[in-house]
Amino acid sequence: MNYHSIADILHNNHVWAAQQHQADPNYFESLSRGQTPPYLYIGCSDSRLPLTRFTQTEPGEIFVHRNIANQVSLTDINFLSVLDYAIAHLHVQCIIVCGHYYCGGIQAAFEGTTTGLVDSWVNPIRELYLQKQEEIDQLPSREAKLNYLAELNVELQVKNLYQTSAMRNALRSGSAPEVRGWVLDLHSGRIKDLNISTEAWYLHPSCPTSQSLLESRALNQGSNTNVSSVPGNLQGIRK
Ligand SMILES: [Zn+2]
Repeated sequence: MNYHSIADILHNNHVWAAQQHQADPNYFESLSRGQTPPYLYIGCSDSRLPLTRFTQTEPGEIFVHRNIANQVSLTDINFLSVLDYAIAHLHVQCIIVCGHYYCGGIQAAFEGTTTGLVDSWVNPIRELYLQKQEEIDQLPSREAKLNYLAELNVELQVKNLYQTSAMRNALRSGSAPEVRGWVLDLHSGRIKDLNISTEAWYLHPSCPTSQSLLESRALNQGSNTNVSSVPGNLQGIRK
């Protein structure tokens, strides 16, 4: 790959800005007025994942948090502040946790040979691998094992989202965003929706809204439960 120099990058930026301004003189004025992005994206720091290019989205559409192996850490003040701001202030409608195949963080967790801070950071994924080792090791190739671990990791991080106070507060107030788990296949450039059901995690007994849902279901016992019978804050979350 031919890498751009710093001078090239700055030059490209100035050319792009001029083109944008020519196409729409109000473009940057509009951007500077603020943001109301409908999406929060939690993805990997990997340099091969410019989400706006992969999804053809525009500046202002996606609020972003990235770290190695797209983790939802319950002790990372950086991530937790991003999440809190996205939910409580930006009122995002959907949170996307996006992993990817060919992820160095997943490989490090799988091999268990990394040292230093990265080793500590990916340790929850290492533990996930050890929990699921029997299932994963049955897969026929190293690539299949890593891909599956990447998908399991997304599922774990979606689950972790429901353990955060920001998400629990949103659930209680009936304003919880939808949550999606994706994995991006760098080999094809395509995003795969893992169709992760979040209902089980939503129904945590410590959440008062969960209790009201359970009571609602008890009342509706015998009739078919559909989206319209679910409290408003669950609509869009159910799969
Ligand atoms: Zn990665």
